Amino acid sequence: MEKVIIFSAPSGSGKTTIVHQLLQKYPQFEFSISATSRAPRGQEVDGVDYYFLTEEEFLRRIEADAFVEWEAVYAGTHYGTLRSEVDRIWSKGNVIVFDVDVVGGINLKKIFGDKACSVFIMPPSVEELERRLVGRGTDAPEVIAKRVAKAGQEIERAPEFDHIVVNDVLEEAVAATCAIIDKFIAE
Ligand code: 5GP
Repeated sequence: MEKVIIFSAPSGSGKTTIVHQLLQKYPQFEFSISATSRAPRGQEVDGVDYYFLTEEEFLRRIEADAFVEWEAVYAGTHYGTLRSEVDRIWSKGNVIVFDVDVVGGINLKKIFGDKACSVFIMPPSVEELERRLVGRGTDAPEVIAKRVAKAGQEIERAPEFDHIVVNDVLEEAVAATCAIIDKFIAE
């Protein structure tokens, strides 16, 4: 059966680290590369981390109904999952792994239903989240402030996910996530 696994979390919860580890462990899993209108950050590569589009191109594709879901995650910055990306991964018989924001994760679960397992990665606290974002050193202070402000609202929506994994100690969070996934894949 075609399956998808959805990961969402407040920015800085360690979601991307967990997703990378899972992709190494499960060869049949493939990361859904989202499209975004934000600029590349650090070592990010077009077509690997994201499909980087101009705002105009992103809006053109919304008009063309090219997205499964899309959102203005931050004011003026769009993110979305292209229909072509879902087809690309399923056509190979692989399981799609989504790394999307909390609203996107809830929407994708509604769209894919029983084909989907949705996992919320929970930071130990909002204070720890802020510490991690500062430590990452990739975002400007005002961007960090925006993300921290958003985290509180996002955590309130955690119960809408199939599973919640607290990422305090990374190895334990990865092990808990693997247990959830093994069960879902075996179903
Ligand atoms: P970042 O700019 O840190 O890479 O991502 C910002 C947020 O956008 C993250 O929570 C990320 O998971 C989310 N995001 C990435 N791709 C998508 C997508 O296709 N759809 C939605 N709704 N959110 C996404």
